Amino acid sequence: METGDPPTGTRMFPASAILPAHSAYDVHRISFNGILDRRPAAIVPCTTTDEVVAAVRAARGAGLPIAIRGGGHSVAGHGIADDALVVSLAAMRGAHVDLERRLAHAGGGAQWDDLDAAAFAHGLAVPGGTFGDTGIGGLTLGGGLGWLMPIAGLTCDNLVEAEVVTADGSVVVAGPGGDEELLWALRGGGGNFGVVTRFTYRMTPIGPMFGGRIAFPATDAGEVLDRLNRIVAEHPTAIMPTVSLRAHPDLGPIVGVLLGIVDGSAPDAITEILRNGLTPLLDELGPITYLELQALTGIMPFGLRNYWKGHFLRQLDSPTFRQLAEAVGAPDAIGQSFILIEGLVGEGRREPAGGAAFGQRAARWNASALAIWESPQDDAAAIGWARRVADILEPSSLTGGGYVNYSPVDETAERVRAAYGTDRWERLVAVKRRYDPDNVFRFNHNIRPD
Ligand SMILES: Cc1cc2nc3c(=O)[nH]c(=O)nc-3n(C[C@H](O)[C@H](O)[C@H](O)COP(=O)(O)OP(=O)(O)OC[C@H]3O[C@@H](n4cnc5c(N)ncnc54)[C@H](O)[C@@H]3O)c2cc1C
Repeated sequence: METGDPPTGTRMFPASAILPAHSAYDVHRISFNGILDRRPAAIVPCTTTDEVVAAVRAARGAGLPIAIRGGGHSVAGHGIADDALVVSLAAMRGAHVDLERRLAHAGGGAQWDDLDAAAFAHGLAVPGGTFGDTGIGGLTLGGGLGWLMPIAGLTCDNLVEAEVVTADGSVVVAGPGGDEELLWALRGGGGNFGVVTRFTYRMTPIGPMFGGRIAFPATDAGEVLDRLNRIVAEHPTAIMPTVSLRAHPDLGPIVGVLLGIVDGSAPDAITEILRNGLTPLLDELGPITYLELQALTGIMPFGLRNYWKGHFLRQLDSPTFRQLAEAVGAPDAIGQSFILIEGLVGEGRREPAGGAAFGQRAARWNASALAIWESPQDDAAAIGWARRVADILEPSSLTGGGYVNYSPVDETAERVRAAYGTDRWERLVAVKRRYDPDNVFRFNHNIRPD
């Protein structure tokens, strides 16, 4: 018997299952977030829908709950769970485009790099996240905030069909011709309803863009916010404003703006609003392609310790913004910790045809403290800082909830529910009851069937 062979009593797992005694077990259970050290009962790597069906049936036969590992970037670590069967889609990364129907199809574990490469070659893109190595799976199912939001909405708004393996091992199509209510639920309701083995998206034509990084001293933070508000008011489909407040190792506290003008607007009018009379500490704005924009933020490595917490905001006034700018200079803003503020703009504020479960469209901003550090000794301080920043944001919160895709490991049921609001929540519960009455898929922003 090899080390990886299932011992007697676990033979119901597929032959490919990676069990705790397997030499590759530790590699396959790694979470993006270094504060997590979870030990699943089995990890089943899948490359086809049939293999996912077999894995789901095996989990049900063994009485195990199921965690779904897509691109592996959940900060709450939802893809890997203690004592669960993990359906790992890490190798299910195929992506191809149907130019005639202007659709893109991708496997349940594909990453944005996979899909971007396939679409960009044809002058097209699926509105995605801003990091190429994050998974399309979790990101789409929780909403999806990215550069193309002003012209094409959230990622989930562009999901037009999905193939889903449900809790009883059935294969269901969500969307027109299948279950439209399930598609509505998948557009923001997370991995609650089954394993999505294929995502099909509408694609958006893209052209040359303009953007990059520009940064100012944190003392200009309020002024920079006012100017971004003016840009959004005057050019509603040009940019998704993305602001970071952080302590730069050499420059001290700074307010950084990541700019991506995506609608073909002439850049001068926009950059003039941002630059006029201010002295940037850094100014790298220039012509840029969509793929370069997607690579702007680089890659955040697996294994750092992360605790993210925030709110979707009704508004962000200058006094609050200044309080946030001060918070990044505090001694407990440890390591690479920063505050990320993303604007909800343009098409992102409009409900897509057919609707979406995503429930924060009326918000102006998504603001989050991203505590990112290395030493376990700093856990209490770093987590305390993120919570303190979230407290500063709370009075401006639209519904009392944050972005489910950035939620921390100890996210409360109340905050998850608040992210959707009562009407959407009840509709989601009804879909959950139909597809997963036993809450087998519970390692997510959980919508309990009861
Ligand atoms: C470095 C970094 C950058 C990010 N940038 C952005 C950004 O620009 N915009 C943005 O909106 N978000 C962003 N996020 C948040 C991101 O949307 C979430 O972390 C998301 O969960 C990542 O999806 P994943 O498939 O990689 O995660 P995983 O950890 O693999 O999955 C998380 C959960 O999603 C569900 N899930 C994933 N795939 C499937 C599937 N095929 N079928 C059913 N359920 C599935 C499951 O519940 C799973 O447990 C970022 C996160 C990180 C860490």
